[in-house]
Amino acid sequence: MLKEEDDLSWYARKADSLRGEAPVPCAPADPAAAARSAALLAELSAGGIRGSIADRTLYTRRLPPGCRGCLAGRGTNCYVTGLCTRECFFCFNEQPRTDQLVLHGIRIEDPGEAREIVERYGLRSVGLSGGEPLLFPDRVLALLRVLRSGPHRCRVDLYTNGDRADDETLRRLKEAGLDSVRFNLAANGFDTAPVERALRYFPETTVEVPVIPDRLPEYEAMALKLDGLGVPYLNIHELFACRENAPGVAASGFSAKSRSADLTWMPTAEGEEAALRLLLFSLRRARTLSVYYCSCRTQELIGRRGLARRRSS
Ligand code: SF4
Repeated sequence: MLKEEDDLSWYARKADSLRGEAPVPCAPADPAAAARSAALLAELSAGGIRGSIADRTLYTRRLPPGCRGCLAGRGTNCYVTGLCTRECFFCFNEQPRTDQLVLHGIRIEDPGEAREIVERYGLRSVGLSGGEPLLFPDRVLALLRVLRSGPHRCRVDLYTNGDRADDETLRRLKEAGLDSVRFNLAANGFDTAPVERALRYFPETTVEVPVIPDRLPEYEAMALKLDGLGVPYLNIHELFACRENAPGVAASGFSAKSRSADLTWMPTAEGEEAALRLLLFSLRRARTLSVYYCSCRTQELIGRRGLARRRSS
């Protein structure tokens, strides 16, 4: 249950930035692009893709363990800091960047407050993200210790661009009970070195990236390399526009998809086809890597489930 003193202004601003009109040119409806996506979905279906075509929640082999609680609406995000080592054009974090700690949309001053919020809302998985959380490794370790001390098992995944993921840090994270690390390789030019390091400590090491439509060959090469390295999971997202990333998305030549009744987010017009192409490529070519397409529709679904749980708790 919400408390009087909970500061939800961060959550409200985030929701507003996703729902509001972003200054990205809106592409006219394109029947040819819709037909290409429909053909890709048919090929994926015939090839044995799993999940839901209607929700665009699709995966080739198995869902990453950290995604199950999230899909059930029992996961949440812990924004460890807004500061980062990179400036990706697609970044949806609030500008100007600020160093603040926010769990489940509630701003907290100290990692010690995390356990009470997780217990209050019956949360079963937490993604530690940012910004770049490993700018503050001691804060991450303190959060891990607190989340590990609760009466219920809470899964914890860390989202990072890998810039600060050296061996010593990875070892300390493992010792503190972190379940897995998810690397955004679209942020570092597809450099797999941090992923290779993490595999020594975390068998469930995952790569999680937005699919930038005009860089598909690099994504395909990355998928094959991850497969060869024995990385178990690759999560791909549909590129979307929001108020924070709108200038970068527009300057990169992408446009917003025309509004549909069932989407409040702003997927780019080019995003879905690119993600489906990468999914189909991986279905056909990867030997062990499992690829999961977490689309804008999926994320809306997750948001609705989480909100329903929040209202009922
Ligand atoms: S690494 Fe992540 S948080 Fe940092 S700028 Fe890129 S997308 Fe944003």
